[in-house]
Amino acid sequence: MSRNGFPFRIWCLFLIVVILAGLTFTGCRPAAEKRSGEPEPKGGASVTDEDGKNDLSEQEGSKMEQRRTEKGAPAKGVKLQYLGHACFLIEIDGFRILTDPYSPGTGYGTLDLQAELITVSHEHEDHNYTAAAPGAQVVRGLTPDALGWEDVSLSVGDLHVTGLATYHDGTAGKSRGRNTAFIFEIGDLRLVHLGDLGHLLNEGDIERLRPVSVLFIPVGGYYTIDAREAKQVVEQLAPAVVIPMHYKTRATRNWPIAELKLFLEGEKNVINKGAKPLTVTREELPESTEIWVMEPAKL
Ligand SMILES: [Zn+2]
Repeated sequence: MSRNGFPFRIWCLFLIVVILAGLTFTGCRPAAEKRSGEPEPKGGASVTDEDGKNDLSEQEGSKMEQRRTEKGAPAKGVKLQYLGHACFLIEIDGFRILTDPYSPGTGYGTLDLQAELITVSHEHEDHNYTAAAPGAQVVRGLTPDALGWEDVSLSVGDLHVTGLATYHDGTAGKSRGRNTAFIFEIGDLRLVHLGDLGHLLNEGDIERLRPVSVLFIPVGGYYTIDAREAKQVVEQLAPAVVIPMHYKTRATRNWPIAELKLFLEGEKNVINKGAKPLTVTREELPESTEIWVMEPAKL
């Protein structure tokens, strides 16, 4: 007995250890199964990545981005840069539009930049220098013979570009021909570039153009509406922001057009924005009309 007693006790201890280990093992398992059935904790674990769930959440993120874009608001607002005369670079989520690029002879220098789209309000050389952005798609407001208007209607993603038939003078085009105003619509932002508008707007024009978030308007007179008429057009359209263009500067000092000060006379809500590009968002638009003076960027 004594010879077998010691190994028997060891044998018993071994059995107890095995039973305890077995109990511990089976006791953990249900708990582990329960956790695996619970929703994944946030920020959880490498397991999520290995299962590809991280990829899914990335997909959801891009879907959210898509939904936001579908709703129409540009992700980072609309960036505006003035290049002088009637030429602006409008950037919407990386898509760049160049409006009415001027020829080097205009006086502001030679335009040479990158853009995806060029709009041309009419075929005068201070507005139709399409070599300014090689490779860009060109949208012309007038037919090749300049005796009619193109039916402009273009969509790029959430951006919609349309044209409004107008004249370059106050006599239905008899002295300076036709002109197209461009409407750039992105979500609830509407930007209107009037080109070389030569007359006040009629009821139909006003209905087509309003509401206007940002209005690019010629104010220099002679070739276009003058300061007084421009003020009337601003009243007609009641835009949130007015950006004057096509006025006399040092670059166009020999032109028979007026300086900007005539348009600014008597105006209270004038803000000098300098030469740096600025960003416009729907939320930051002023309640009542403001005039933003932009200085041309140096080329
Ligand atoms: Zn012009």
